[in-house]
Amino acid sequence: MGSWSKPGQKLTVTMFRVITESDEFRSGVWRESSLCVSLTKHNPDHYQPEDWFNWKRIPERIVAVCNECPVRLECLSYAIQITPTEGIWGGRSSRAIKKMARQIKEVS
Ligand code: SF4
Repeated sequence: MGSWSKPGQKLTVTMFRVITESDEFRSGVWRESSLCVSLTKHNPDHYQPEDWFNWKRIPERIVAVCNECPVRLECLSYAIQITPTEGIWGGRSSRAIKKMARQIKEVS
């Protein structure tokens, strides 16, 4: 079974499947708990939606937000499904997400 781990943030292939097959995930309701959405709405002086997309190096302060986000695994799972070409999703770069998506396909 493939897994990607960072301390306290582990997404396994099994977990990916459980998350993406849940009704809550499929309904998209998890997005309502997104920390980035909340911060850009309530603290626009410090956070803009572009902060998650316009970067040359991955900004640590944005990764820190993702690491605190209550729907980080859902966000990461969603990104693995859509394989975005840019941005930070679940605290990971689009490049890292592409690699995860490839690994998932390999064990499926
Ligand atoms: S993990 Fe990051 S990009 Fe994903 S919803 Fe949370 S704050 Fe936004």
